[in-house]
Order: sequence, then C-alpha cells, then structure tokens
Amino acid sequence: NSCADLIKEQVRNVPDWPEPGVMFRDITTILQRPDTFRKVINAFLERYGNQEIDVVACIEARGFILGAPLAHQLGVSMIPVRKEGKLPWRTVSRSYDLEYGSAVIEVHEDSFSEGQRVLVVDDLIATGGTMLAACQLVEELGATVVEAASIIDLPELGGSAKLRDNNYAVYTLCD
Ligand code: IMP
Repeated sequence: NSCADLIKEQVRNVPDWPEPGVMFRDITTILQRPDTFRKVINAFLERYGNQEIDVVACIEARGFILGAPLAHQLGVSMIPVRKEGKLPWRTVSRSYDLEYGSAVIEVHEDSFSEGQRVLVVDDLIATGGTMLAACQLVEELGATVVEAASIIDLPELGGSAKLRDNNYAVYTLCD
C-alpha cells in the first residue's frame, strides 16, 4: 500500500549506528514531514477506530510519539511503558534479553485494570523483546492485549514471529 511505500521511501537508513553492523531505521524523517506523520497516525486510526480499546500503552521513547496522538484521537487512556527507574510511584517491571546483556521496562502498578483492552505501540519491532515484555506487563496486571502495533517490522530479526508464537496479534505498516 501507499503508506508502506511512503515510509520505505522516507525513513532514514543509518549504517553502523548505534554500533558497527547495525542499520538503524530513523523515523525522525517521517515525523518531520507533516503529511506522512498524519498518514501514519491515520493508518492506525483506521485500524483501531472501530475496535474496542480502553488504553494505548506506549513504549519509551518513540512509542510515546505515536501512541500519544493515537490515544488522544481514540479518546482513551495513554500509559507510558518506561525504562527502569523513570517512574515515580510503585511499579511492576519486566526484564528481557538484549543482544548483549538485558534491559528492564516498567509501568505503574495501577496502569491497567482487570479486563481492560490494551493496544501496545512502538515505532519498530526488531527482535521483539521489548514489545513482548510490554505485552506481558499488560497481562500481568490483568488486562488483555488487543494487538502489538508499530510502524516498521524487521521480519528477518524474527520479532513479529516471536510475538505471534506467544499468541499476540501484530500489526505493522511496513516491513
Ligand atoms: P527489539 O526489542 O529488538 O524488538 O527492539 C525494538 C526496540 O528497539 C524498539 O523500542 C525500537 O524503538 C528500538 N529499535 C531497535 N532497532 C531500531 C531501529 O533500527 N530504529 C528505531 N528503533 C529501533
């Protein structure tokens, strides 16, 4: 579709960042173009506007950029899923493996309630570790993950497949 073509055309590919051998997909070039940013948000609104969603959970940091306008437009709660140590109150956290070492994400323990339907949003799914940990946090608090959504999927890294193996629905605008 045209949104995928636009994203592929406009995303900035930065070789060897943040380390040698990595091709970083930089979405700031998409945000910089108001027409494209709007198309991206509208594509998600088209998919989720008629679905039953109570909360958009947004993964730090680029997930905030997408998830906030989405939650605002859908008229539902916006919950920040943050890196360790950023949230001021009581949290539940989850650690997950990175290529080297591990990382921790967390949410306030009152972020979701039993039975709420949650859309989890980030900019990109690579190995899927971050998104999987976020989805598991949602369920740990008794809510249900409607879908894991991102602008870009890197299917060769296996993240979207891993999420689906764990029974999470995945929706991305572009491979
Ligand atoms: P994963 O946990 O390996 O799936 O990595 C996804 C997380 O890392 C997301 O929060 C992304 O924002 C970030 N990330 C990994 N690679 C890229 C990239 O090439 N561009 C933008 N973000 C990336």
